[in-house]
Parts: sequence; structure tokens; C-alpha cells
Amino acid sequence: MTNEPGSGDDTGRDDLVRADGSAAESETGGGADERTWEPRPVPEVTPETEAFWRGASEGRFLLSECQECGLIYHYPRALCPDCFGEDVTWREASGEGEIYSYSIARQASGWPDEALPLVVAYVELEEGPRVMTNVLDCEPEDVAVGTPVETRFVPTEKEDVSIPVFVPCDSRGRE
Ligand SMILES: [Zn+2]
Repeated sequence: MTNEPGSGDDTGRDDLVRADGSAAESETGGGADERTWEPRPVPEVTPETEAFWRGASEGRFLLSECQECGLIYHYPRALCPDCFGEDVTWREASGEGEIYSYSIARQASGWPDEALPLVVAYVELEEGPRVMTNVLDCEPEDVAVGTPVETRFVPTEKEDVSIPVFVPCDSRGRE
């Protein structure tokens, strides 16, 4: 599996972090939180994305910000996808956003049945970029376009790599 997005030829506003792939094997398969927060496979970490994954492991969602044209973008790339500027810095996102679009997966190859249905969504961050992600800790029926969400981080088997997901803001306080 890989964290590399499918295309890198647009402006970066519709790019994605994949929180996909088969879930780590679970010996328990218990309640809802347990099933959704179990460790996930380790994405491919590249020099361009290493700081992003490490930030996520520290509970920070890092966006890239071009110092030449001002574009804030995600997924991480060394060159600005708009102006190809090289002066790109990290900027910590608020972690808040809203659902821009979503789909409910009721079958998913390689994904354990007990983890389904799964909400796959584009979340539009407060800062602008849209992120493909999962929305957890909710009933799929409660999700709608415009639902406010905030980020959480799912651990992987690698200590300095976590994967950002989102939960509805009204689940604040549930961990
Ligand atoms: Zn730029």
C-alpha cells in the first residue's frame, strides 16, 4: 500500500491523504471505537512526506504553504503545485473542517467486515485544502455534506507515523 496520491497534476486543493488499505489484524473485534481506532498499516514514508507523518504522530495536521504565491496545499510536495515555487514551509492546520462530499462503503476488499460500513469522505479543511479521509465515531446515517468535523490520529505500527482521520465535532470529548 502507499500513501502516494493518484494524481499530482492539479492545484493541490483536491488532494488526499489515504487512510485506506486493509486494517491491521485484530484479535478482538470488539466495540465500535475499538474497531475504528485499531492500528492501521504503515503508509510509505518519503522524504517529502516524512515531516507530515511525524507531525500526525504528534497530533498535528501539517499543511504545506508556498511562501511565493501563498497557496496552502495538501498532500505534501516539495514544489508548490501552483507556481512551482521551492520556498515551501509547514503550517499547522486547525484540524477543523467540514464534509465536502462523502460515500458510505458497505463492502471493501481487504477491510474487515466488522469495520464496515465505513464513511469515506472529502473533508474541506478550514484552511482550504480538501483531504480524502475516513469519518469515524459516527453512524453513517448521521453524516451529511457540511457536517463539521475535526481531526484525530490513528496510530500505525510505526511509532512516528500516524494517520489523520476525522470525527464529527459533536463527538468531542470521546476518545
Ligand atoms: Zn506557489
